Amino acid sequence: METSTSITTNERAAIDSVPKGLFIGGQWRPTAATLPVEDPSTGEVLCEVADATPAEALPALDAAAAAQADWARTAPRERSEILTRAYDLMIAEKERLALIMTLEMGKPLAEARGEVGYAAEFLRWFAEEAVRIDGGYMTAPAGGSKFLVSKQPVGVSLMITPWNFPLAMGTRKIGPAIAAGCTSLIKPAAQTPLSTMAFAELLTRAGLPDGVVNVVTTSSSDEVMTPLILDERSRKLSFTGSTGVGKHLLELCAKTVMRTSMELGGNAPFLVFADADLDAAVDGAMLAKMRNIGQACTAANRILVQREVAAEFAERLTTRMRELPMGRGTEDGVVVGPLIDQRAVQKVTDLVADATSRGATVHLGGQAHEGKGHFYPATVLTDVSPDAEMGSTEIFGPVAAITPFDSEEEAIALANDTPYGLVSYAYTRDLARGFRVGEGLEAGMVGLNLGVVSNPAAPFGGIKESGLGREGGFLGIDEFLETKYIGIAI
Ligand code: NAP
Repeated sequence: METSTSITTNERAAIDSVPKGLFIGGQWRPTAATLPVEDPSTGEVLCEVADATPAEALPALDAAAAAQADWARTAPRERSEILTRAYDLMIAEKERLALIMTLEMGKPLAEARGEVGYAAEFLRWFAEEAVRIDGGYMTAPAGGSKFLVSKQPVGVSLMITPWNFPLAMGTRKIGPAIAAGCTSLIKPAAQTPLSTMAFAELLTRAGLPDGVVNVVTTSSSDEVMTPLILDERSRKLSFTGSTGVGKHLLELCAKTVMRTSMELGGNAPFLVFADADLDAAVDGAMLAKMRNIGQACTAANRILVQREVAAEFAERLTTRMRELPMGRGTEDGVVVGPLIDQRAVQKVTDLVADATSRGATVHLGGQAHEGKGHFYPATVLTDVSPDAEMGSTEIFGPVAAITPFDSEEEAIALANDTPYGLVSYAYTRDLARGFRVGEGLEAGMVGLNLGVVSNPAAPFGGIKESGLGREGGFLGIDEFLETKYIGIAI
């Protein structure tokens, strides 16, 4: 693996193009302290961005609250057109945004371009939804009155996003909030703030009025966000991140009975039945496992393969995984970029050690890369015990963990034996089995002979400890709307 160490002129220009302050009421404000943003492929500091204290962050909520009433009154068509312009700008600037994302997060450029496209599609989708907010009018069953049902913006919305999809997790929240008439304050992950900052700058050029979207970056998430969540002007929290942090935030939100959307962790089972098209199943597993270097809530965490085809599947998957070049995400052809930090590398190392100590066999990889950057190579393990720690923990790395099963009942039981319920995948050629398994899997989303379920037009979200609410699709805008019923005597 060859990894160039110093940042190029083009890369420097992309980083320099991003404003680095807090985005409050349409202005970029400096803070007393700054926080470093690192390139995970080298560990080098790319730049410093604003590091807000609670006092420096509070004006962002003031700005969102001040802008809320006017923004709620804007014509849906106007909100829609701002989103359409933002979509156009994002597509036009795909290369710059992708490079910024790769530099701060590590994913290969091809994937970063894919994420920019995916992120932009939320803007287009919600531009279309902004003008379709509807209601109802009906006669009371006993007569004598009418029911008028309408939708109103929920109000000032707080948003917290993770580092693994630094742009799309933001547009998936800000898109529907803008469409619904809500103002917002977004806090991106401290490790990847630049994509959100670049997006906010782009929204200004798209004509978004001051104060409608505000961005706070900080290395003190808890201290900064807690008072904002407890502030009575905040009416909604939309969070994407780990289940542990999500539970803590839910407790805080209970204090003001705040509306919440929670997109939390996953532990996706990937089922391959003996009757499956094995080539398609391997293609699907490559996508479900390797997208984002395995650092996705939708990543295939447990690959369950019917015993008759388990060896064949493992061999084909190993062949494909062996071909994946590892390196800095900006280098041509790289598929396996760095993990986000050294803690992530250590976590994967420990999970692999635990699995092998319980009898798993290593077919490929299995050892962290030594040297610069946070690299862990593509790894394939077979005969992973369901009791291994990686069976109950998000691996968040490029490790395919294969466990054999014998019957359909056993596969479903193993798949559902987790507190998580975000997504499950199943590969079979038997239509009836496909439906049966699809119904039986405890998950908010199922990929049936499909390795990627994310789509802006589909309702993304989990059940059990994977979350509450749905983002995208027809339901996505409802997360930012309240239903109001007016009873009318006639
Ligand atoms: P995380 O540690 O939960 O952090 C997510 C966000 O929450 C970050 O912005 C983080 O800020 C912030 N945060 C952490 N503690 C906080 C607190 N006490 N108060 C307020 N904010 C707080 O998760 P992560 O490691 O960044 O992301 C990976 C996790 O996200 C995985 O579990 C993955 O499955 C999940 N995820 C879920 C989805 C989905 O749609 N279901 C999508 C993507 C990722 P700092 O980083 O600045 O501390």
